[in-house]
Amino acid sequence: MSGNLSPFHFAIVGGGTAGWMAALLFAHKWLKPASEQTRPVKITLIEAPDIGIIGVGEGSTPSLKRFFQQLGIADSEWMPACQATYKTNIRFVNWSPAAAAMGLGSDYSHPFISQPDLHSETAFYSNCFKRRLGLAVETAPEKFLLNGYLAAQQLAPLTPANFPFRIEYGYHFDSGLLGQFLKQKALAMGVQYQALTVTAVNQLPDGRIASLSGEIADGDSKAVQTLDADFFIDCTGFRASLLQQTLQVPFESFASNLFNDAAVVLPTEAFAIPPVETKATALSNGWAWQIPLRHRSGNGYVYSSAFLSKDAAELELRQHLGLLDSEVNARHLQMKVGQVTRSWEKNCLALGLSQGFIEPLEATALHLVQSSIEQFIDAFADFSDEGQAEFNRQVHQRFEAVRDYIVAHYKLSSRSDSHYWRANSSNMQLSESLRQILDVWFRQGDLAQELSRQEQGRQQSGSHFGATSWHCLLAGYGVFPPLRQPQPANVSDAFTELELAAFFNGCSLNFQPQHLLWRD
Ligand SMILES: Cc1cc2nc3c(=O)[nH]c(=O)nc-3n(C[C@H](O)[C@H](O)[C@H](O)COP(=O)(O)OP(=O)(O)OC[C@H]3O[C@@H](n4cnc5c(N)ncnc54)[C@H](O)[C@@H]3O)c2cc1C
Repeated sequence: MSGNLSPFHFAIVGGGTAGWMAALLFAHKWLKPASEQTRPVKITLIEAPDIGIIGVGEGSTPSLKRFFQQLGIADSEWMPACQATYKTNIRFVNWSPAAAAMGLGSDYSHPFISQPDLHSETAFYSNCFKRRLGLAVETAPEKFLLNGYLAAQQLAPLTPANFPFRIEYGYHFDSGLLGQFLKQKALAMGVQYQALTVTAVNQLPDGRIASLSGEIADGDSKAVQTLDADFFIDCTGFRASLLQQTLQVPFESFASNLFNDAAVVLPTEAFAIPPVETKATALSNGWAWQIPLRHRSGNGYVYSSAFLSKDAAELELRQHLGLLDSEVNARHLQMKVGQVTRSWEKNCLALGLSQGFIEPLEATALHLVQSSIEQFIDAFADFSDEGQAEFNRQVHQRFEAVRDYIVAHYKLSSRSDSHYWRANSSNMQLSESLRQILDVWFRQGDLAQELSRQEQGRQQSGSHFGATSWHCLLAGYGVFPPLRQPQPANVSDAFTELELAAFFNGCSLNFQPQHLLWRD
């Protein structure tokens, strides 16, 4: 961005979480004092007052912690404003009857990985390897990872200053309040705001977007307004008005192996002592989330409309929550699951639901929004056609890698109590990368090595779901052969030999329940 001195203008269309996250990270990077930049930058966020935000999306991964840290916003500032709670873990309930039948329990955990787990991850892998050979050793993920202990004891992941390890955690939050909070912050940083329903996207002869036209309320009438910009960020949600509707970038559906395309949402009362985990319970045709906030709990049933009607889904969720007699209204949503072939086309970048969505299991959407914004900032600052193509390739592959992990939950589930679960487990529409991961597991190969081989192939490090996450899923599901009979004598069990329970229970003494930390 060098040359003339007129500001380079980014127009962000959409004021959901994706739009405001982009506004803040752009402002942090580019709204600098004039002396610090070669060309001034202007950022305008445009939002249709008559089109609401999706209003779900209330669980995060640990990347949101990094989002607030880089903006210098403390947990103590934003969390009370957004009724937020800490999240150390996702607990999966009733996903694998096979695990329960093997005595491994009907629940398992997928904890976020913290620094003390460096001490135990190898032990976890080693025990899983022995169990794949038919040896009777401990393999429950939550027993090998500190955040599993914090979740079981309902402890907040905040350490005293003298605790020498870094703890990773995510959050649960009210998405409407988060949007309002981010908006205030962005306005304070100099982002301009325009309430405007975009009705036309005006293009230059070469296809680039030149301006947006829309209607703005003016007393009882409506005035038409046009807004020029140099670069446009499409955060219009599932509508995808700019990238898909105007620039016609194709959308790749994931329906061949992710069947869920609908959700029904119902709030319940807040917990007296809020858990520090999201609960994901498998139901007849999908799964239900439970997200504990300070002022309420968020609940929703994510299901496939090809297998279950809207009314039956609502009834099942009400039964699951014990809300059959409640008059609380449910909200029904459609989901478009898949991704665009290119997130960045000409002078337009799509972020959030307009870019793609891999259903909410594992709560990865905002993580993908954030990583796309951060990567775009790097690529844009040093713009080249090759850089743009590389950005698109990496974002596309990141979605594919996350998709593999989510698909595995359905493919490997041993539930067979409905057409839906049977269709999932018999579905052979799997990516080559997922087939290889499963093949290595079943052949008693080295899973960490296979994942690292795949990352190298993608020329991308730091895939969101690493070896420990995959071990949590596969061990939690009990994807193991029957135990050898008889068991060999003196099988070493790394869990007991390293006295991990004593280590983690000792660590846990440093933590407190989160409600004791709240001032209000
Ligand atoms: C059932 C479900 C559960 C989910 N759970 C999670 C979760 O646990 N964790 C997670 O990370 N994510 C989750 N997500 C995804 C998450 O909700 C979204 O990624 C996130 O809210 C960002 O949405 P968005 O900003 O892209 O779109 P939206 O919130 O839909 O915002 C769209 C914006 O575009 C504006 N707009 C649209 N058209 C126009 C126009 N013509 N002119 C001007 N403005 C316009 C609207 O006014 C609105 O401000 C979930 C999604 C679903 C469907």
